Parts: sequence; structure tokens; C-alpha cells
Amino acid sequence: MPTRTILVIEDEPHIIEVVRDYLEQAGFRVLEARDGETALSLTRREHPDLVVLDLMLPGGLDGLDVCQQIRRDPVLVETPIIMLTARVELVDRLVGLELGADDYITKPFSPREVVARAKAVLRRVEGHSTGTSSLKVGELSMDLRGRVVTVDGRAVELTPTEFDLLAAMMREPGRVFSRAQLVDGIYDVAYQGYDRAIDSHIKNLRQKIEPDPRKPTYVQTVYGVGYRLAIRSQVVDWESR
Ligand code: CA
Repeated sequence: MPTRTILVIEDEPHIIEVVRDYLEQAGFRVLEARDGETALSLTRREHPDLVVLDLMLPGGLDGLDVCQQIRRDPVLVETPIIMLTARVELVDRLVGLELGADDYITKPFSPREVVARAKAVLRRVEGHSTGTSSLKVGELSMDLRGRVVTVDGRAVELTPTEFDLLAAMMREPGRVFSRAQLVDGIYDVAYQGYDRAIDSHIKNLRQKIEPDPRKPTYVQTVYGVGYRLAIRSQVVDWESR
């Protein structure tokens, strides 16, 4: 079994330290973040297999904000999240649809409990997600874990933003996305002027994946609305290997 990466988001250094020790002893690779902004950029860059997220964080984003942003990101939406909280009044709402965590642990906790819950959540999630690691539409194939895209068997180099845009569309071929919906799925586009930024990313993406970028057959413009990925064949979920 490959090493699983767990991102621990917590601002109290002694908690990070002890949780990291126990998780590493259990064979996990551990990343850490001490505030919400760092946590989100690490999640987007590293795609951890699991996020352990403290509810109370310093700065502009608390644990609930981080959780919601992960759940709104089409690439990261399935990342399992275990919430740490000392606020017992919240625990009923933490798990499930309302706030989006997969499990929670109340403070104070033993680090052994974190290891046990992490293993349980990963087992549950990985049991459910066989086949979601790859997408295929026509001659376009995408390996979501390795972040590799091939067109007709030929690998194409995409920027992280182009990859995330294409992933959002490949998850729902045929769906029309407005530019505002697409910008939700990516992260490094400045809020101002995002329409033009999306258009420019789409143009670059077409140069790389379309047989003839001037007559796109994959990424189609829907006038007055946005873009959609043409359905050239059904999405095939490959067997996970
Ligand atoms: Ca805290």
C-alpha cells in the first residue's frame, strides 16, 4: 500500500508535534499548516489523502471556512476531513452535509485516537472510491492522482490551473459552466477580471489538447454563458490499479 499523506492543520505547536509523531510512527507522511490560508494552498498543491483540521484557527479563515472551500473545489471535493474541536455544541453539525466533515474528534484527545480515526476514515473512503482516480472522455484521459493528461495516448503538459479547469469539466462532460463556476474550481486567478483570465486559460488549454484549436471539438464555447466539455463518449471510470 502506498504511503498516505495527512495534512494536520492546527495552530497549537505541541498538538501538531504529538499528532505528527504518532501519525508518522503509524506510517503516514505528515504535512502541517498553522493557519487556514497556508492549509488551503498546501491542500491544493499536495492533494493530501486526508485532512485533520482544527476548528479554531488564527487569521482570516477558521476550520469551517477551510472545510467549505475544500468542499467547493471540484478537484479536492472528495478529500476526507476529520475535524478537531473543543466546542461540543457543534459536534452534531460537523459531520455530514451541513458542515461537510467526515468525522470529528473532541478535544482533549489522545493521539492514538487520531491515528485510529484516520485509518478508519481512509479505509471507508478508499473502499468507496475505486475507479474515481481516472477520467476518460473521447481520446482525453486524466489521471487525477498523478495529475497526468494524455490526448490520444500522447502526454500533454498542463499548468496546474489548466489541469484543474479540465478536471472540473471532465467530471461532468456536457455540463455548461459559467466562468464564475469555473473560477470557483481553480485558485490562482485574481478575483478581478476573472472572465478574461478564464478565457485565456481556456485558449491555452485548447492549444494543448485540441487537434485544431481554432475549431475546438473538446472544450466548446457556449455563447453568453461559458464553456462545456463536449460528450464524445461516456466517461469511463478506469479500474484502479
Ligand atoms: Ca486551534
